[in-house]
Amino acid sequence: MDLLTPAGPPCDGRRPELSVVVPVYNEQQVLPEFHRRLSAVLDTLALDAEIVYVNDGSSDGSLRLLAALHGQDRRVAVIDLSRNFGKEAAMSAGLDFAEGDAVVLIDADLQDPPELIEQMLQVWREGVDVVLMRRRRRDRESWLKRGTAHAFYRVIGRVGTIPIPEDVGDFRLLSRRAVTALRRLPERSRFMKGLFAWIGYPTRALTYDRDRRHAGGSKYSYWRLWNFALEGITSFSAAPLKVASYFGLAIALVAFAFGVFIVVKTLLYGDPVPGFPTLVTVVLFLGGLQLVALGIIGEYLGRMFVEVKQRPLYLVAGHLPRATARQPPAGRAPANTATPAERRSE
Ligand code: UDP
Ligand code: MG
Repeated sequence: MDLLTPAGPPCDGRRPELSVVVPVYNEQQVLPEFHRRLSAVLDTLALDAEIVYVNDGSSDGSLRLLAALHGQDRRVAVIDLSRNFGKEAAMSAGLDFAEGDAVVLIDADLQDPPELIEQMLQVWREGVDVVLMRRRRRDRESWLKRGTAHAFYRVIGRVGTIPIPEDVGDFRLLSRRAVTALRRLPERSRFMKGLFAWIGYPTRALTYDRDRRHAGGSKYSYWRLWNFALEGITSFSAAPLKVASYFGLAIALVAFAFGVFIVVKTLLYGDPVPGFPTLVTVVLFLGGLQLVALGIIGEYLGRMFVEVKQRPLYLVAGHLPRATARQPPAGRAPANTATPAERRSE
């Protein structure tokens, strides 16, 4: 894989210029409207485009709708995952299958307006590899979500090694070489915001107003967001692992000073053996600290366990290629059986 090719390699005529990747999980209420708005935008752009819908194991009628869209629109490709793998895996699947010179990731719920794609393409044509979309205002979200999101960015900004831009979601444009770079990252725990930041390349942010969800509800509960935050921090920072050592060191120093104090006190005043409450407090405090430290190690160990198993990120149950797709090169496994690992080793 040659990473030194410039952004946006020349179009070979069969490869689409633009791929729009859309993860879909139980979005039957919004899909028709989403597709109408997206295709209206693509119609106005004079370029060859494909729309890659990734059905992330929806249990409603989303897949049926997607198959119907595939029948109506030559630009549509559908990848059906074997179950719900989560948005991060669905986006990875979309990136693996997208063939465009530029790839746009967008949510299906119309919170990210497809009309902005034209602006993103303009920036990409100026030679920028990653076009981020920064939300201007989050005041439509609850204060709890805004507050926790802000706290998360502060923590990860402080303990992490890679600065992760704040108020930037997954809505973005990636050049072909940025996609190639992302696909080379082998980890199973795909904290995409971090991975996007890790690859580097010329990046520019545009601001936009994030709309309300068109229909249906968010798939992210606070518990899921909390786990997402843990995943982000443990994937991009080893700092929590060091906390235990510093705490331990500080406590040892304090304990030593306290020990000297007790010896001196006993020598000077004798020893009537007081201090049971102090003893219990210290023991409980240290026990708690030890459990926390063990828990932190456990978080990392659990993630290493997942990585070591090297399971594929997702499995594909079915694939409807776009009508104008080029033939797969000889020797390539049919797309609906290839695992990401196999696809990566191509
Ligand atoms: N999504 C997905 N798999 C999931 C959860 C969500 O593919 O397990 C998709 C969903 O269909 C939507 C996008 O990811 O296109 C964003 O989801 P949602 O709107 O629920 O997230 P929020 O905007 O609340 O962060
Ligand atoms: Mg949403």
